[in-house]
Amino acid sequence: MTLESWASSRATRTSMRGNRRTDTKPEIALRSKLHAVGLRFRKDYRLDLGDVRVRPDVVFTRAKVVVFVDGCFWHCCPIHGTQPTRNSGYWAPKLARNVERDREQDIVLAAHGWRVIRVWEHEPVDDAVQRVVRAAGGAGAAFARADDDEGHGGERR
Ligand SMILES: [Zn+2]
Repeated sequence: MTLESWASSRATRTSMRGNRRTDTKPEIALRSKLHAVGLRFRKDYRLDLGDVRVRPDVVFTRAKVVVFVDGCFWHCCPIHGTQPTRNSGYWAPKLARNVERDREQDIVLAAHGWRVIRVWEHEPVDDAVQRVVRAAGGAGAAFARADDDEGHGGERR
């Protein structure tokens, strides 16, 4: 299977369910690992930033960190992001627009004080988890508390 046919068939398979509407396997894997190390976050949480709406894959509201898991094909990964030559008139602008929108979102998020972490679909999940923990878990804000999520109760045994 050539890279081109891989990309085309993959694109065809994934086009029906759209770009970011559904959980993908890498997203699910990352979320469950983040949960396993004790991080608490929101999924499907829409941020309204002025007139721009962003729905990252993972949001740490207190730490103000967002995580996107970018598919290699859809977001033109430098390693696997081949441009299909078949129907290139359709794909080239579509993929270019995706990348453009990613960068726009990065800029808007940063302007509103959010730190953006982008994880490639191909990235080992443990590496991704480490990056997220460093960013979101540094001050402990994103870790689940022993007592509860909101309270400031004392130690419990
Ligand atoms: Zn890749």
